[in-house]
Amino acid sequence: MTEGEAKLIEQAGQALGPKVVITDQREIEPWATDWRGRVHGTSPAMLAPATTDEVVDIVRLAAEHGVALVPQGGNTGMAAGATPPADGSAILLSMRRMNRIRSISVEGRVAVAEAGVVLETLHDAAHRAGMRFPLTLGARGSCTIGGLASTNAGGTQVLKFGTMRSLVAGVEAVLPDGSVHSGLSGLKKDNRGYSLDQLLIGAEGTLGVITAVALKLVPAIAERAVAWAGVDSPTKALELLRFLEARTSSIEGFELVPQDSLDLVLKHVPGTRAPLAGKHSWHALIEATTADPVSDIAGELQRLLAAALQEGIIEDAVIAANEAQAEAFWKLRDTISEAERAEGQTRAHDISVPVADMPTFIIEAAAKVEAAFPGVVATGFGHLGDGNIHFHVRAGSHAAPEWYEAEGERITMMVDDLVTAAGGSISAEHGIGQLKRAEFARLAPPGRIHALRAIKAAIDPLGIMNPGKLIP
Ligand SMILES: Cc1cc2nc3c(=O)[nH]c(=O)nc-3n(C[C@H](O)[C@H](O)[C@H](O)COP(=O)(O)OP(=O)(O)OC[C@H]3O[C@@H](n4cnc5c(N)ncnc54)[C@H](O)[C@@H]3O)c2cc1C
Repeated sequence: MTEGEAKLIEQAGQALGPKVVITDQREIEPWATDWRGRVHGTSPAMLAPATTDEVVDIVRLAAEHGVALVPQGGNTGMAAGATPPADGSAILLSMRRMNRIRSISVEGRVAVAEAGVVLETLHDAAHRAGMRFPLTLGARGSCTIGGLASTNAGGTQVLKFGTMRSLVAGVEAVLPDGSVHSGLSGLKKDNRGYSLDQLLIGAEGTLGVITAVALKLVPAIAERAVAWAGVDSPTKALELLRFLEARTSSIEGFELVPQDSLDLVLKHVPGTRAPLAGKHSWHALIEATTADPVSDIAGELQRLLAAALQEGIIEDAVIAANEAQAEAFWKLRDTISEAERAEGQTRAHDISVPVADMPTFIIEAAAKVEAAFPGVVATGFGHLGDGNIHFHVRAGSHAAPEWYEAEGERITMMVDDLVTAAGGSISAEHGIGQLKRAEFARLAPPGRIHALRAIKAAIDPLGIMNPGKLIP
């Protein structure tokens, strides 16, 4: 422990008490490793403030003693951004005790939630008010509003509602000098220059500590319809999406699933069954919703899919008969990563390219990777309509345990090169954290890196906010 850390821990303990300052390593340890269990850190203490004022006190002490802080929400991030360094040179700042929903305004269509509110808790509270916060993702039971904003998270409804960036009406944050940025008024229009709110969104804790967020709400869903369609290519899947979008505004989820991924789920995840009788090379999972209680959303989707079948866009389709079946369809999509883990080693890439280019990219990139690394299986699944897929490369069944690190790194470099050549992003929704920092440094244009470094240096000149993350 450095002298600065010791002073900070002592003075924070005196000022804020033992609830806020945790030094018992048994309590800290579970939070010092990333969600995937790949990156292990250590920290001499975990600070757990419950109010914005307590965050201010902590940040001021950190600045005074030159101590680095690692903000952490639910620790479900995929890029190890919330994992402290292995040498103990930073202090964990857990935001989970800041878990109040300060307000929900039905008239204003806005909720103000503290950073540590778990996404599912916000969903439930909005629902009780007859409203909805439309961003959702697999980690909704543990990820927090502060983490979602800090990673500009996406999820499955981005097609209609966008990422966190478009769902945040304002941010309250403690900046590295201890001052508070209060942007919670939820103004629809505010043109006073650079948007600090937007700078903090996606900053991965490198510019300040988000303490609360004003979130845009939409009316609650009255009914949803979920369908599964078989298609012969990703090109046809995108054609289907555009066909549907041209005829209805109710489509809000559209996920691409290759047959290979479906086979793995059926093999490894108990209780799953294929929605369609025949085999299809590719599948689309479609969700349509309406806030209008008298509209027949399932009937509309059925009619449109029948028309798509007639036009030769799809090979077959089925609509979930009830909520249980709708959930069963979603489970097939949501358990792909779990099924892959059961099958063996997988190198995962969360990438995006321009939407129109994605169908060709998936096929060509998979063929190139499989040719360069004999024995691997490469495929892409996920948010086709956002131009964002999870491009996963699975080791052959006889791969040695060291495959992941040894060959995996070369595979990732090849995938990232292909993505960059296609004008895409090596991180579509998971952020850079520590895991993608080297590749970001290798591939980002110099102008972008220069701007990021300049912003970081201007706002956090002492470099106390989550050093070693995001900024190359
Ligand atoms: C099963 C599963 C499914 C997932 N699906 C998706 C998906 O579909 N789309 C998607 O985008 N992501 C997905 N994720 C990733 C993850 O849920 C998101 O990145 C989420 O936003 C992280 O929230 P968190 O509270 O766990 O943040 P953490 O993991 O704790 O932190 C993430 C980053 O934000 C910073 N941070 C956290 N809180 C604050 C704060 N209050 N102030 C400043 N910085 C802060 C941390 O320092 C770190 O850099 C998934 C994860 C899992 C485990």
